[in-house]
Amino acid sequence: MELNPNQVRLMMLQVADAIIVAEPKLSQADRDLGDGDHGLGMKRGMEAVKAQLEPMEPASPEQVLVATGTAMMTSMGGASGAIFGTVYRAGGKALAGRATLDSEGLALFLQAALEGVMKRGGAKPGDKTMIDALAPAAEKAKEVTGQPVADALAAAADAAEAGKEASKDMIAQFGRAKTLGEACLGFPDAGALSVTIMLQTMAAFAKA
Ligand code: ADP
Ligand code: MG
Ligand code: MG
Repeated sequence: MELNPNQVRLMMLQVADAIIVAEPKLSQADRDLGDGDHGLGMKRGMEAVKAQLEPMEPASPEQVLVATGTAMMTSMGGASGAIFGTVYRAGGKALAGRATLDSEGLALFLQAALEGVMKRGGAKPGDKTMIDALAPAAEKAKEVTGQPVADALAAAADAAEAGKEASKDMIAQFGRAKTLGEACLGFPDAGALSVTIMLQTMAAFAKA
């Protein structure tokens, strides 16, 4: 099972709605560790994504995902505009030439997204950023290549959730949370929560 370009478009519209609904949760998570603007930033980005994708008749998954990243990058600002914009732009470009999104494409997408974010922002696994959800998801997607994309997405979402939970035990090395030291223990990273919600929503779409 795989997703055609229009299904990828509809999936990303659901992701946008899920992040918009989660705005209060994302805001609270960033308030616990940062400056509290992550939810509103992501919401603004997702409204720009919806404006781009609603009228689109996409020719490829790459087109949908790169347009998602460009809309986020140009509308959001802040660390997460560049970081999440890079997820979808770098990840989407890794799907060039692919007519559909299958589990192999998902693994390529997540690996390229991870590499792009690490190159762009300089953080590594364990620094208490969204990388702590994205890296385990990318690793898991490689392991489950060959399965239906719905199952691969579900496995990747579970790995992201576990990574987000593990970020509670990490001391932040980036952003405003860095100044908190041990006071950031017990709280998950806000961006890791966004990654988890995105993958859970993709998995739910693909399963339906
Ligand atoms: P800002 O930090 O500019 O207020 P947001 O609050 O929207 O931006 O986003 C913060 C999130 O961005 C963090 O929770 C973290 O997941 C992610 N982030 C910040 N800096 C980096 C980085 N260098 N690499 C990866 N992710 C990062
Ligand atoms: Mg913030
Ligand atoms: Mg900010």
